[in-house]
Amino acid sequence: MAARLGFCLGSLLSFLDIGWKLCSGLTRAVLTNLCNAVGIFSDRCLMSPTLTDVYDISASSEVNNSGQTSQSKGPENDSSDAPKSICGSKSSQFVDKTSGSKHGTMSRPVEGAIIVGAGTSGLAAAACLRERGVPITLLEKSGCIGSLWKERTYDRLHLHTPKEFCQLPLMPLPASYPTYPNKKQFLDYLQEYVKRFDIKPIYNTNVDRAQYDENSKVWRVQTQGFSSSNGIEKAEYTARWLIVASGENAEIVMPKLQGMKTYSGSILHSRNYKNGSEYVDKKVLVVGCGNSGMEIALDLANFTAKPSIVVRDSVHVLPREIFGASTFVVAMRLSKALPLWLTDWLLVFGTWLTLGNLARYGLKRPIEGPLQLKQKTGKTPVLDVGTINQIKNGNIKVVPKVVALTTSGVRFENGEFESYDAIIFATGYRSNVPMWLKGNFFGEDGSPSASMRDGWKGERGLYAIGFTKKGLVGTFTDATNIAKDIGRAYDHDMLQTAI
Ligand SMILES: Cc1cc2nc3c(=O)[nH]c(=O)nc-3n(C[C@H](O)[C@H](O)[C@H](O)COP(=O)(O)OP(=O)(O)OC[C@H]3O[C@@H](n4cnc5c(N)ncnc54)[C@H](O)[C@@H]3O)c2cc1C
Repeated sequence: MAARLGFCLGSLLSFLDIGWKLCSGLTRAVLTNLCNAVGIFSDRCLMSPTLTDVYDISASSEVNNSGQTSQSKGPENDSSDAPKSICGSKSSQFVDKTSGSKHGTMSRPVEGAIIVGAGTSGLAAAACLRERGVPITLLEKSGCIGSLWKERTYDRLHLHTPKEFCQLPLMPLPASYPTYPNKKQFLDYLQEYVKRFDIKPIYNTNVDRAQYDENSKVWRVQTQGFSSSNGIEKAEYTARWLIVASGENAEIVMPKLQGMKTYSGSILHSRNYKNGSEYVDKKVLVVGCGNSGMEIALDLANFTAKPSIVVRDSVHVLPREIFGASTFVVAMRLSKALPLWLTDWLLVFGTWLTLGNLARYGLKRPIEGPLQLKQKTGKTPVLDVGTINQIKNGNIKVVPKVVALTTSGVRFENGEFESYDAIIFATGYRSNVPMWLKGNFFGEDGSPSASMRDGWKGERGLYAIGFTKKGLVGTFTDATNIAKDIGRAYDHDMLQTAI
């Protein structure tokens, strides 16, 4: 019976596939728009403590405004050597002293746009704006580009989505790359990207505060920079446009659990997990069953650790490939042709045929389908890359919600106790924008507020990129839209000046 149903579904998919191929004239823009509409697959956390659990909400230190006393060239034109883009390296470019104030804050009026963050979103915005001839100043708190990928992810990481949905605007990922490039390949691509578009971020420069100045009609962006030669320096950049590209994953989310302080094993967040080599034969609890948690549990099993994974309530796990095709692509194609509920039904059914009844292993599905849930809550389905097999083999144990830690282990919701050598919290990240952007442009949860049209366009020259929970596909669209919008206004200004 299952085989026959599988055959029927396979036939339907093949039919849609042929239809799709016939429509091969459809451009990437169509794909992108579709994906936007559906908004699928980006890494999200499952445990969501309140904002106060995560942020130190105390206002960032006030920096005195020193005004625009000098006409600097701006860092975009700065000929000083850019750092070699190595995180943690001390060789970083720096906030230079254009004009000092009596309070020691350097004033840096810059032409064009200020971009906060040199992750994939900041780089995409920078490249698109440069192509439009708009000058940019890119401020990055770490010492490299793509610091999330470089510094805060595990070794075995590959893109979860096929490469054609992960490329940045104006430069595709190399044809020689596999469908799911690994972390190193993706970082190499980012290095090539900054080279191609001559993007020189100002590193080790944290944006502490940004506020619109109604009088001067500019954004005032206050930073603290660090260099080995000068120590800490404060600066204030001013520009007509501000682009927030500091990411949905800027701050870790760590739940506060009773007994955390007295637990004798090691505790870490997934951002600090690299591989399972130090956990051989150790009992490790992974808290959180998003894409990161599932993959870390798999990595631990591969390193012959004894991992357990906490599944608090329900989770959608889909195979990364369904009948040999990328589930992400299949989902997109189906949702183009069918209503979302039917697409969801087919995805769940296809998953059942491929992975079996996961509820038997403690992985209950939410009532709503994976795409409908993503659209409604932003919660991303897990794309399985082998974890389910290890769960079925008994190499990864599924356990319920943790209620407290003891000195040697944890107590679960069902009253049972288990000892663990280490606990890894794969409980996700949050944006840090509410900590530094003044005004009501972003909500307390770190997402753009309703005042940001479609999540990317705010008022008074404010833009955001990478905050629509659509992963790199969202970045692609936001960057293109932002460059068009600012480009038009910039051209208009230039024309006025010329007249
Ligand atoms: C493990 C993992 C796997 C993923 N896999 C995929 C995938 O396969 N496909 C997909 O589409 N998406 C994936 N994602 C989602 C991914 O995070 C985004 O697609 C993308 O990398 C986010 O880029 P970003 O530039 O918006 O944010 P980030 O990469 O987080 O970059 C933001 C930058 O801003 C800097 N910054 C933050 N605050 C400040 C400040 N105050 N001042 C100055 N600089 C600041 C940070 O240092 C950082 O460099 C994955 C995410 C994770 C965590």
